[in-house]
Amino acid sequence: MWDVIVLGAGAAGLMCAIEGARRGRRVVVLDHARAAGEKIRISGGGRCNFTNLQIAPDRFISQNPRFARSALSRYSQQDFIDRVTRAGIAWHEKTLGQLFCDGSARQIVDMLLRDLHAAGGALRLGVRPGAVKRGADGVFQVETDAGEFTARTVVLATGGKSIPKMGASDFGYRVAQAFGLRIVPTRPALVPLVFTDAQLDMIRPLAGLSVYARVGAEGQRIAFEEGLLFTHRGLSGPSILQISSYWSAGSAIRVDLSPGRDLVAQAQAGRAAGLGGRDLVNVLDLPQALARNVVTRAGLSGRLADQTRAGFDALWRSIHDWQLVPAGTEGWRTAEVTAGGVDTRDLDGRSFAARSVPGLHVVGELVDVTGWLGGYNFQWAWSSGWAAGQAV
Ligand SMILES: Cc1cc2nc3c(=O)[nH]c(=O)nc-3n(C[C@H](O)[C@H](O)[C@H](O)COP(=O)(O)OP(=O)(O)OC[C@H]3O[C@@H](n4cnc5c(N)ncnc54)[C@H](O)[C@@H]3O)c2cc1C
Repeated sequence: MWDVIVLGAGAAGLMCAIEGARRGRRVVVLDHARAAGEKIRISGGGRCNFTNLQIAPDRFISQNPRFARSALSRYSQQDFIDRVTRAGIAWHEKTLGQLFCDGSARQIVDMLLRDLHAAGGALRLGVRPGAVKRGADGVFQVETDAGEFTARTVVLATGGKSIPKMGASDFGYRVAQAFGLRIVPTRPALVPLVFTDAQLDMIRPLAGLSVYARVGAEGQRIAFEEGLLFTHRGLSGPSILQISSYWSAGSAIRVDLSPGRDLVAQAQAGRAAGLGGRDLVNVLDLPQALARNVVTRAGLSGRLADQTRAGFDALWRSIHDWQLVPAGTEGWRTAEVTAGGVDTRDLDGRSFAARSVPGLHVVGELVDVTGWLGGYNFQWAWSSGWAAGQAV
């Protein structure tokens, strides 16, 4: 009989277990994987983008945008930065407030495992949980292939559905649902967008090219100015991953391939300055292949001097307001996170306890809170895990 069973030894589960154990609770963490914190280990290209200096609640997507506030303020990015620094892990800011380990993501996993051990928490890896039941006496029974575990508190921390090859599963969603918690439909987020063959005829010749772009989505006020990468399957890069979390199937994305610099106005000024004899493609301040692409998409050709006002309008749209409807996303195989999840209406924002099931808590990516790209999702895991750890 344990006090607390944490299901999932990822970022949120380990954080919760450490805090619970530090409060003197008898905590066991169960995970079906052979190693704990695998997503931490591979994250950020092996350097783990563990938080962001610019964490703010409006950078998290949820049906209830206010839900994340409490946990993010009670355990902030500064709290985690202090923890990493105290552990002697060197780190640096890469860009846009994103903090990475100087060395290896492994250091973050080791820090968490050391803390868990020091606090007296137990970790059982390679254990496959099955049914989770709650008896009339309020005690949970978790069946596993290594026997039954019992406790008055169970924390669901089995993470999202992305990258099934790494052990991701829908286990947590199923258990939450079986206990009557509502689920906001899940979808892959922070994920590359794919296109139809007809659209790919335009995109593929640019594969490998990366530009700085502003990307928005139809019906959304938000837009992201970051890198955009053309690929053989469609579009990727930070600006696309970011907007994928806001994009809904069937709607368009809007791309400005030269934000803050009106290339059509520049071309017109060039014509006035005597450059009219040059080929339109050669006067646009874009990589050559992209310049050719935007001119073709605008249905234009020939010299700068020969362009009409309507032609310039079409060129402007082609460069600064390129609207295209993705066929879909690359899906769970490459998505960095899962949007949607356990409905926050059914959870207490301070303790992460299920309102209708005493003793059941849900933390991390399983919850309907999805952060931006750049350390936001780990901060959510640390903050929600820490908050639940104070309550279990
Ligand atoms: C390739 C990649 C790179 C990423 N890079 C970053 C980054 O740099 N910065 C950032 O902020 N976020 C990043 N993320 C997102 C981040 O990893 C997650 O948001 C975060 O790990 C979620 O924490 P969690 O504890 O909720 O889930 P996880 O860390 O995924 O942990 C869930 C745990 O539950 C276990 N589990 C799953 N199913 C079962 C089951 N049925 N039985 C038992 N155990 C189970 C898993 O083995 C895992 O150990 C990245 C994600 C991916 C896929």
